[in-house]
Amino acid sequence: MDTVSGENMIGGKKRLIVTIDGPSGAGKSTVSMIAADRLGYRYINTGALYRAVAVEALKQGIDTNNEAELREICSSLQISIYKRNGLLVYFVNEREVTGEIREPKISLLASGLSAKEIVRKGLFGIQRRLGRNGGVVFEGRDMGTVVFPEAEIKFYLNAKPEERAKRRYRELTENNYDVTYEQILRELIKRDADDSSRKLSPLRPAREAVIIDSTQMELEEVVMLMLDSIQKKIDFVSC
Ligand code: C5P
Repeated sequence: MDTVSGENMIGGKKRLIVTIDGPSGAGKSTVSMIAADRLGYRYINTGALYRAVAVEALKQGIDTNNEAELREICSSLQISIYKRNGLLVYFVNEREVTGEIREPKISLLASGLSAKEIVRKGLFGIQRRLGRNGGVVFEGRDMGTVVFPEAEIKFYLNAKPEERAKRRYRELTENNYDVTYEQILRELIKRDADDSSRKLSPLRPAREAVIIDSTQMELEEVVMLMLDSIQKKIDFVSC
């Protein structure tokens, strides 16, 4: 464990909870993974948890309006994420779902399920436990606003919808998905609207979040900007 004397400290430095929220395709996963790597922190992609629930709901063919079945899926969910050849691979209940989890139908189902209280409650506890010792970069929609309101440093990463759709389209076609740019843009705008307008944990920046628009920025620029803010915060809270 990284914990010393019950404090989230290592080498005299406090290990923080870093939250990165924002809409899909803003580049959160890539920058979060790189930032976590350079800090020696864990990286948790919370969207993968919602996607895992969707994958399992589809596999089991449950009625997604049936709360008891959804509760059961959340409470028995075993998700493992490994790095293989530098890329993340996902297993849900011991079945590899790395490709499936990114499919457009899973994106839409995950978004629909994420509006349900039973699912958000089920995943809330899992996320809190993962953050218990600090030293984690959490990426999602409500990390800074709801799950870790006490996080020491929060970011909100955004980019224009057209740019985000372009990035998602490139990623999916590189992985041989048969999609069009227009379809991706349409679905992304719908998902943004659903995620932002839902009653529970809507997508929005935390009051104290550092807001970054990555539309015109290179990946490395975004990472450097974040690491600079994080380092200042680590120095401040550790002295
Ligand atoms: O980030 P990603 O696109 O993989 O997330 C899939 C869906 O899961 C999002 O559209 C959103 O509805 C939901 N989600 C959420 N809260 C999070 C992370 C993801 O509601 N913290």
